[in-house]
Amino acid sequence: MAEPKSLKILNSFYKLCLFLLDKLLQNMAAKKPGLIALFDVDGTLTAPRKVVTPEMLEFMRNLREVVTVGIVGGSDLVKISEQLGQRVIDDYDYVFSENGLVAYKNGKLIGTQSLRSFLGEEKLKEFINFTLHYIADLDIPIKRGTFIEFRSGMLNVSPIGRNCSQEERIEFEKYDKIHNIRSKMVSVLREKFAHLNLTFSIGGQISFDVFPQGWDKTYCLRYLEEFQEIHFFGDKTYKGGNDHEIYESERTVGHTVTSPEDTAEQCTTLFLS
Ligand SMILES: [Mg+2]
Repeated sequence: MAEPKSLKILNSFYKLCLFLLDKLLQNMAAKKPGLIALFDVDGTLTAPRKVVTPEMLEFMRNLREVVTVGIVGGSDLVKISEQLGQRVIDDYDYVFSENGLVAYKNGKLIGTQSLRSFLGEEKLKEFINFTLHYIADLDIPIKRGTFIEFRSGMLNVSPIGRNCSQEERIEFEKYDKIHNIRSKMVSVLREKFAHLNLTFSIGGQISFDVFPQGWDKTYCLRYLEEFQEIHFFGDKTYKGGNDHEIYESERTVGHTVTSPEDTAEQCTTLFLS
């Protein structure tokens, strides 16, 4: 005997309810509310400048079943995708590229910020003009080209110019160690542009970075206000390292890792046992 139509619909509806309830209970039981595990990319989820291993990807997929997972890298999304895969924005609950200046949640863009819109063309021009004049007046053995590189979240300033050769780069580094070209230049700029609240970071051999205060990895924390417990994992948590500020932040519980394997091990202890 055929079931009446209404009974069939009721039956399907009942099954759907059970299915949804099951999913809901799974989620409630699985993901700890108010807690997020947040990861640096390079050196933490991948070996330095390498692509993530399939084992690590699988580990992160499993971890995401248990806790909310976010990643925060200093590079742009193109570079992060090269390391973590083209599906990266869907693979994690939050993806913060350029320290969070470009922010994704559940695969959707939720915020962007740039140096240009933050400072405005007038202030930017004032800074760039002064810096180029300073470099023009600088008496150093050689100069090449690209003295200022404009990036979306920072300016990279190089007294010798970024398109010097490898040998010239090494020579400049030696010269700079004796004559403090970069640190002298930074102290002049810091004083001259004190009103812009900029951070100057000398790194590498030939240049320094300039960006607004707070545009380190702590920038992404503004998107995580609903979380009371933020576990951050990074490899460069020492002073001067690019994970230092977020590691030290009172909003996070910081964890120093030495490799992707170490990251997986620490997460297993913390969340999976
Ligand atoms: Mg790192």
